Amino acid sequence: MNNNKYKILIIEDENNIRNFITALLEANNYQIITAESCSSGQMMFNSYRPDLIILDLGLPDKDGTEFIRYVRSENSTPIIVLSARTDEKDKVEALDLGANDYVTKPFGSAELVARIRSALRSTRIKSDSIHQSEKFVLEKLVIDYDSRRVFLDKTEIKLTQTEYNIVALLSEHCGKVLTYSSIISSIWGYNDYGSKKKLQVNMANIRKKFGATPGNDCYIINELGVGYRMDKE
Ligand code: CA
Repeated sequence: MNNNKYKILIIEDENNIRNFITALLEANNYQIITAESCSSGQMMFNSYRPDLIILDLGLPDKDGTEFIRYVRSENSTPIIVLSARTDEKDKVEALDLGANDYVTKPFGSAELVARIRSALRSTRIKSDSIHQSEKFVLEKLVIDYDSRRVFLDKTEIKLTQTEYNIVALLSEHCGKVLTYSSIISSIWGYNDYGSKKKLQVNMANIRKKFGATPGNDCYIINELGVGYRMDKE
């Protein structure tokens, strides 16, 4: 066993999907452990302490969201949820419970590997930033939390207070999808009928100030129908 490899736990009851992901990730130099139900997943999690978990929501014994609750009651291991295209509500629930990201079935190999890298990176950024100054750096994007200023390619981006709060929130969860409702409750403290529109207006302004153009997300990615995520370009 090579201890330098990241250890990934795959919890999925469908053999062909589980085998496909296992082969894909082993080829990408990850160490894989697998489980076919929620309860065996919990056992594997406790025994092996994986670096990341890939979780199917539809499991034979319990709903995958039970597993997220279980893990989040004690730690922050990144969780990527696998969900069917039609399960928009489940996806949002999983993210609100603390899942980091989701991939919709059927998914491409490149997409899954990219999401895994991003989730592992976000954990590293978080553990690094505890020991460093109050600054967030992601490629050309720099956020100075002390002075509440944002720089892109060394040029300051002038944001309103609300816009800054949204950008800072996304940066604190870099790599993770934040749902509309979780952003709204963090920023405004309540979630009413007009809130989503208000968030979208602020987000459109932020993206414009960041210089986003079609095909160039400029660090803030719009996950349609779900929420937003800050990530590398
Ligand atoms: Ca399933």
